[in-house]
Amino acid sequence: MKINEFIEELKKLGIIITDEQLDKLNKYYDLLINWNKKINLTTITNKEEVYLKHFYDSLTLIKAYDLTKNIKVCDVGTGAGFPGVVLKILFPNLDIILVDALNKRVIFLNEIIDKLKLKNIAVVHARAEEFARDNIEVFDLVTSRAVAKLNILNEICIPMVKIDGYFIPMKANIDEELDNSKKSLNELDSIVEDVISFNLPKEKSKRNLIKIKKIKKTKEKYPRKFDKISKNPL
Ligand code: SAM
Repeated sequence: MKINEFIEELKKLGIIITDEQLDKLNKYYDLLINWNKKINLTTITNKEEVYLKHFYDSLTLIKAYDLTKNIKVCDVGTGAGFPGVVLKILFPNLDIILVDALNKRVIFLNEIIDKLKLKNIAVVHARAEEFARDNIEVFDLVTSRAVAKLNILNEICIPMVKIDGYFIPMKANIDEELDNSKKSLNELDSIVEDVISFNLPKEKSKRNLIKIKKIKKTKEKYPRKFDKISKNPL
């Protein structure tokens, strides 16, 4: 999408983007494309496509959660920073941890944080299942875009969510995943409060935000979950 379309579509999400934020996204795009020549960050490189399929798409999380609150957020398997870095640029109030298992991407993300002068955002180089073990019930919101099947993500991400907090995976396809994750949701004392489905503007591909609320403590159950996950790494 062209920049003016991006600005207009964000308005429909209730987001008014500033010139400074547009400038940061532009720098982010330039660095993404430069680094992508050396390390594998994204297959989408055309500017209009990056603005639609990475930048705009990341911000659709606002359809499921009020991102203007001062909350702690974890983005699991952030890759080149989607959705976490884009959320940070548009919502500087968020306190964000980005987690990824691939060190090259972590180095890129640290460069982005430095060059864009982003504050209250950190990158952790770790397997999410290991990071989760030390971060139980720490985050108000955990999100993850295009990383793994829902039943696996639930086991890793829900323990990190505070009680009454949310895990909101962003997914293109959820065909059988919701049915297959009923057991894990039940065991982790969580409920699907809403599934927000929509099409991306322009090219109309399907997107889903699964709004999962943690309703009870899972702390004492977690070591059992972790043993299970570590035998089945993503
Ligand atoms: N979320 C980004 C996006 O939407 O563009 C990246 C998606 S990419 C398909 C999946 C990412 O998850 C990769 O960067 C990979 O390194 C990371 N990943 C996979 N398994 C992981 C694990 N167990 N712990 C942490 N990161 C993991």
